[in-house]
Amino acid sequence: MTGSAMSFKDRVVLVTGAFRGIGRAIAAAFAEEQARVIINDIGTEDELSGMLLKPPFNNGQTRTMQADVGDSGAVDRMFEEIESTYGRLDVLVNNAGIIRRGSVETVTEQEWDDVIRINLKGTFNCSKAAARLMIRQKSGKIINISSIAGKTGDITSAPGYGPSKAAIDALTKTFARQLAAHGINVNGVAPHAIETDMSAEWSEEKRKAIIEAIPLKKLGQPEDVAAAALFLASDKAGFITGEILDVNGGFLMDYPRISMVICIQANMSSLTPINTV
Ligand code: NAP
Repeated sequence: MTGSAMSFKDRVVLVTGAFRGIGRAIAAAFAEEQARVIINDIGTEDELSGMLLKPPFNNGQTRTMQADVGDSGAVDRMFEEIESTYGRLDVLVNNAGIIRRGSVETVTEQEWDDVIRINLKGTFNCSKAAARLMIRQKSGKIINISSIAGKTGDITSAPGYGPSKAAIDALTKTFARQLAAHGINVNGVAPHAIETDMSAEWSEEKRKAIIEAIPLKKLGQPEDVAAAALFLASDKAGFITGEILDVNGGFLMDYPRISMVICIQANMSSLTPINTV
């Protein structure tokens, strides 16, 4: 779609966890559409402001705001700054998220708490703060970056990541129902196998198996998720709310059969489906 088709010029857009990976690609896509983008991340202000030196963020209308989305006090302070600077927020993309690897036997209480706090509570904190501004302006779009693991459960991630994403899907529908009367759309995007730092830890063997299991026979790119987020945030998606859009190369459409084929091809003794995040 072209810039005019998407119409984000001068809209105020907050993307959480946007220092790298999918969040960065989403922030870049909005910046290219001439939105006024706020880049949030947990890194230092110095790290974040360094992003403003390079395209497409060196456009004079991108800002950075450091905050831990899991900390409601820090989120409230960030939204006070948004309100005093812009007086409004048109789009919130809840992208910040973490994953921990492991199993039922190895997961620690700390790992569980960290994943739930950042992924789920972080999404709640920012959505609640954004809703206050959006209800007042009678418009807004909230996009939650979920995961395929919200549907499949944790397979290679430690128990916590999948439940956090399943809860984000339910939270998406809760906010969509309760904010619809205020002209606010709330939707999710559920990616699978996107090439970022989060997926960089895969072995070559695992990477090949993951690609083989995807009908489109390739990994997704952060820009694929960005395109879905931009669509859902656009006026073109005005009649869509409470939806979770899969961005997974077709992986889920025939999930049990594909998983079995891949396990057989990879000569695995068990029929445990191969999955990532
Ligand atoms: P990533 O490369 O690890 O980037 C995540 C970003 O979030 C990092 O910049 C990180 O900052 C930031 N962050 C972490 N904790 C934060 C906090 N408390 N407050 C604010 N920012 C925080 O991950 P990604 O692969 O781009 O994933 C982005 C989203 O997509 C996540 O929600 C993830 O669950 C979801 N997802 C990814 C995939 C995939 O295949 N990659 C698949 C499905 C879903 P630091 O650099 O300081 O840690």
